[in-house]
Amino acid sequence: QDDQFKKVISHAKEYGYIFQSSEIYDGLSAVYDYAQNGAELKKNIRDYWWKAMVQMHENIVGIDAAILMHPTTWKASGHVDAFNDPLIDNKDSKKRYRADVLVEDYREKIVQKIDKDIEKAKKRFGDAFNEEEFRATNPNVLRRQKQIDEISAELARVQEENDLEGFRQLIIDLGIVDPVSGTKNWTEVKQFNLMFGTQLGASAESSTKVYLRPETAQGIFVNFLNVQKTGRMKIPFGIAQTGKAFRNEIVARQFIFRQREFEQMEMQFFVKPGTQKEWYEQWKETRLKWHLSLGMGAENYRFHDHDKLAHYADAAADIEFNFPFGFKELEGIHSRTDFDLSQHEEYSGKKLRYYDNETKESYIPYVVETSIGLDRMFLAVFSNSLVEEELTDGTTRTVLRLPAVLAPTKAAVLPLVEKDGLPEIARKIMDDLKWDFNMVYEEGKDSIGRRYRRQDAAGTPFCITVDHETKDDHMVTIRHRDTMEQQRVKIEEVRGIIAKEVDM
Ligand code: ATP
Repeated sequence: QDDQFKKVISHAKEYGYIFQSSEIYDGLSAVYDYAQNGAELKKNIRDYWWKAMVQMHENIVGIDAAILMHPTTWKASGHVDAFNDPLIDNKDSKKRYRADVLVEDYREKIVQKIDKDIEKAKKRFGDAFNEEEFRATNPNVLRRQKQIDEISAELARVQEENDLEGFRQLIIDLGIVDPVSGTKNWTEVKQFNLMFGTQLGASAESSTKVYLRPETAQGIFVNFLNVQKTGRMKIPFGIAQTGKAFRNEIVARQFIFRQREFEQMEMQFFVKPGTQKEWYEQWKETRLKWHLSLGMGAENYRFHDHDKLAHYADAAADIEFNFPFGFKELEGIHSRTDFDLSQHEEYSGKKLRYYDNETKESYIPYVVETSIGLDRMFLAVFSNSLVEEELTDGTTRTVLRLPAVLAPTKAAVLPLVEKDGLPEIARKIMDDLKWDFNMVYEEGKDSIGRRYRRQDAAGTPFCITVDHETKDDHMVTIRHRDTMEQQRVKIEEVRGIIAKEVDM
C-alpha cells in the first residue's frame, strides 16, 4: 500500500500533474501546485461535476462567491467558536498530533486485526466459511469488536462533552505510543482553531480581522435570498459553487488528501421542512451514481453513515473511497436543518425566509448539502488509474487509465518519422481538432513504441499515427490506450471516434 502511494506521488510529479508548492525553497507543508496536466485534469473534474449538478438540474444554479466574507459570517456559522481540532504533544519527540486521529488510528488497527482473522478463517474453511456467523461467534473477533465499540463510545463522549482531560486519559488508557519517540509521555489536549486569519485594511487601528473561508457553503447561505429572488427559484432548489477553502490543518499528511489550501465543490439544496429525509436519501443516491458513472469500480466506494452528528445536522453520511491508504472520506452528504439560515437571520437581523406563493406562508427552508473535495476527487481518480500491467509478451507497461472524459490530453498525433511530409499531415490533423479537444503533437524522433508508452503513462486515451501510406489512402492508425488495439480509419472519422469517448 505504501509503495503504491509512493508511486502515485512520484508519477504525479514526473508526468506534470502535481508539484510541491515553492519547491525551490524546499516546499511549504501541505500545500501543492497543479502542473500542466494536473490543472487540466482538475478542470475536467470540476466541469464534470458542474455539468452534472448545475447544467443537468433545471432547479440548481451556480454562483462564485468571494473567499473573504464579513467576519460575522463565521461567528454565525459557529466556526469562530467551534471549528477546532483537539491537539496533543508528545513531551519527548515534541511532535504534535490530532488527538482524535491518534485514537482513530489505534481503533483502525484493531479493525485490521479482525480483517486478518477473517482472511485466515476463509483460507482454512474454504467454501464452508460464513463471515457473518464467524463475526457473531468467534471469541477473538467478539473481544476485538467490543474493544472497538468501547473506544468509539468514549471518543464520541469526550468529543461531545469537550472533555479534554478525558481525551488525554483515553489516549493514556489505550497505551498509545508516539511512533517517533516510542514513549507514552503525552501533554494535555488543547483545542486549536483551524481558520486562517488576516487583516482587511492597512492601518493598525482601522483594520479588521477577517478569515479565509474554511468552506464554500457560507457564501451560498448568505446569498440564498438574493439568488432565490433574482432567479425566481421555487423550493426545492439548489445553489452550487466550486472554489478554494483554507484550513490550518495540523496533521497535514497524505499528499493532496489533506491540504491547507484546497478546493471544494458544494451544493446546498433548499427544501420544505419535513421533506429533508427524502431529499437526503435522494442526494446520497444521486451522488453515488455520479461517482459510479466514471467507471472506477463500485467496490471502491462505500457509505459511512454517521452516528455522531454535528449539533446542526439531523443526518449525515460520507461517501468513502478506497484510496491507496484505505477507505477514507471523499464526499459528505449532510442534512443541515435550518441551522445555518437561522443563525444568519439572528446575526444579521435580516429575514432569510422563503415565501411560498401557493400556501401564502413564509418559512426558513431546510438544507441538504453535498460537499466534495476537488483535490480528494483528483487523488481518487489519479491513484485508481495508475497501474503496472503485465503484457502477454512478458514485458510490463505503466498506464494511467484515466476516465477518457477527464483525461487532460485527449489525443496525441504522431508522425511515424519526422520527415517525408508526415509532420505536415500530422500538424494539419492536429490543427483541425484542437479547438474541440486538448491535443499534443509528439515529434517523430523516438521509436513509435516508446512514444506510445509515454502517452500511456501520461494518461492520453488516443494516439493517432500518420505513416507513409497516409499520403495515399488518407487513413491513420488510432491506438486505444487501455486495450492497445489499433484501428485503421479515415482521417475524417477521427473526430467522431474521439468525441464518442471523451464528450461529457
Ligand atoms: P476530514 O474529516 O477528512 O477532515 P471534514 O469532515 O472536515 O473532512 P468537510 O468539512 O465535510 O470535511 O468538507 C467537505 C469535503 O471537503 C470533504 O469531504 C473533503 O473531500 C474536502 N476536504 C476537507 N478538508 C480538506 C483538506 N484539508 N484538504 C483537502 N480536502 C479537504
